[in-house]
Amino acid sequence: MTDRYRVLVTDEIDPEGVAILRAHPMIEVFEKPTRPAAEVLEEIGAYDAFIGRSATRVSRELLQRGERLKVIGRAGVGVDNVDIPTATELGIAVINAPGGNTVSVAELAFGVLIGLVRNLPRAWESMHAGRWDRSQLGGVELRGKTMAIIGVGRIGSEMGRRARAFGMHVIGYDPYVGPARFEELGIERVARLSEALDRGDVVTVHVPLNAETHGMIGAPELARLPRDAYVLNLARGGVVVEDALVEALRTKRIAGAALDVFEHEPLAADNPLRTVPNLVLTPHLGASTRDAQRNVAIEACEAVRDALVTGDLSAAMNATSVGGAGMRELRPLLALADRLGRLGRALVPGALTSLEVRYTGARAEAPRPLLLAALQGAMRDVVERRAINLVNAQHVAAGRGIETASTHVDGRGELGEEIELRLEGGERSIRVGGAVLGETHGRIIRIGPFRVDVAPRGVMLVLRNRDVPGVIGRVGTLLGEAGVNIAEYHQARLQVGGEALAAVSVDSRIPQDVIELLASKPEILEVRQVEME
Ligand code: NAD
Repeated sequence: MTDRYRVLVTDEIDPEGVAILRAHPMIEVFEKPTRPAAEVLEEIGAYDAFIGRSATRVSRELLQRGERLKVIGRAGVGVDNVDIPTATELGIAVINAPGGNTVSVAELAFGVLIGLVRNLPRAWESMHAGRWDRSQLGGVELRGKTMAIIGVGRIGSEMGRRARAFGMHVIGYDPYVGPARFEELGIERVARLSEALDRGDVVTVHVPLNAETHGMIGAPELARLPRDAYVLNLARGGVVVEDALVEALRTKRIAGAALDVFEHEPLAADNPLRTVPNLVLTPHLGASTRDAQRNVAIEACEAVRDALVTGDLSAAMNATSVGGAGMRELRPLLALADRLGRLGRALVPGALTSLEVRYTGARAEAPRPLLLAALQGAMRDVVERRAINLVNAQHVAAGRGIETASTHVDGRGELGEEIELRLEGGERSIRVGGAVLGETHGRIIRIGPFRVDVAPRGVMLVLRNRDVPGVIGRVGTLLGEAGVNIAEYHQARLQVGGEALAAVSVDSRIPQDVIELLASKPEILEVRQVEME
């Protein structure tokens, strides 16, 4: 088979993940050890996808050389090693595996926490040194204490579950998570970081590193903590200010701390953190379990397989702002928006100058992905080297000077969830509309001022004609003689004897000479053929 997807798997991806790729008949796997980037550059042009961990830098040059590349998969969370803006520009999906590490990180956090409150590192050390320091190594219980979780996402939530199992009172600060989720997790929501700090006997950060969270826990924050408090950072280096932490521990302002992540990794051998009492240090071990490595490999390999084989970009971090499950639910709408884009484009000759999407329905997250899908449909024929997709649609549109907009009308359309596109180009503009009936059933319901009702499948013939007798018969005969089977024929008119529009769904492409013959009939004003699949 020559048309199989070639996937380069590198950096010791767990075999269970690789097996998922190998099991698919459309995928050919090339498993190679980590090599210098120069060597990968030489051969990247031969692959449709690349899956690695953090060791290989996926640079602009590598992405540009990868003429066939469609997907970059990262078996892990961080994608600092991938040039995401370039990937987006080139329409290459970047997929990571954010969920597989979660439990491993939360378990390590509890490991180090218990280590801290029961002095395990010191006990271990003293036993190895031949001592019996029983009286100096007394600790405290977790039960009854308050854990303050800063960042209640995947890992923060798992921390909450475990803390409750230990009989702790759990409070959380995360302004981006709503009260319902807090309630579901049994975590008391606090509105301000300062309140979490005032009350937390254990303060644990689980936020991403960004401008807002960098230095989030510094000297003033540490000063608010109850004495005897413990601070954990297993998120990212820099969220807790290292110097301030050293100072707080040395002055016994707090009882202890644990760091798994550092401003500069690996941590320098002479870094003062290494000499601070009651500071448990681990070398970024959060995700270092066999289980996490297997989970992230499976998660990444499944997502890459789906992206290649079915075009499912729901796991792509550079596709839209909507996450995986959300994108799957949107699929029927996305397919319809794409078809409407194709239809609208066929009816607006010349360069497209603007495309607007109006979505009527209850999903607030839908308009942007629908805009991308509509752009994808409308620009299908304009991108030479690479296919247009949800990753690069907006970028390509901007590069071509196409203005875009999307709006959300909260409510229900006449027929269910509805999408309307307005396309402008050359001298013309047109509105086309569709609806998803039930859960999955897309229909085209509007072309310009005409109400129609036709499935967006196969090939669609759109005819503008004078509303005179016999047109339907003549079109039917002509198509029949050309061996083109009609699946649906929908004729619409605004007034008797005026202009009419026919949306005809046919099973195969109509030869150009038949299109020309149709166009030459005096009662037919315009003929367009649109490939819907
Ligand atoms: P997540 O995206 O599921 O959760 C992060 C949460 O932080 C979100 O709920 C978000 O709303 C919240 N948040 C963002 N900015 C905030 C702010 N200013 N104040 C309060 N909350 C804020 O991420 P996750 O998978 O739970 O990962 C959490 C952290 O753990 C990340 O920094 C990640 O890089 C790190 N991590 C570390 C290891 C390790 O080996 N130590 C492994 C995996 C993840």
